[in-house]
Amino acid sequence: MSEPFFGCRNPGCAEDVTYPADMLAEHPDGGPICEYCWEDDDARYNGAETLPTFGSLPAFVPKHERNLQELAEALEGLLRSYIGLVNSGDCGSWNPENEVEVKAARAALVKAKGQSND
Ligand SMILES: [Zn+2]
Repeated sequence: MSEPFFGCRNPGCAEDVTYPADMLAEHPDGGPICEYCWEDDDARYNGAETLPTFGSLPAFVPKHERNLQELAEALEGLLRSYIGLVNSGDCGSWNPENEVEVKAARAALVKAKGQSND
């Protein structure tokens, strides 16, 4: 599978060139910015007194990756809550770790967090 490419937030730039995510940074106003546009005065963040260097900007995380991270965190929280409920004994006594759904959720979380190579 080929690496996805993204356009920078500067429309004139995005028309001409796209970059892999790791060559872009997160602009303080939101959206990906390339190093060339960041160095260009017109595209800089005007609110800051001293302008951060391109290398000090936060990494650009594509929307689908951010969504995946949020989904993984939500599933993790739900799993924690469910396991806690079952282990409290208030609704009977069984081992939630033997449930197909719990195993599937744990396996999906491992993949979502990039801890698996398959
Ligand atoms: Zn650009």
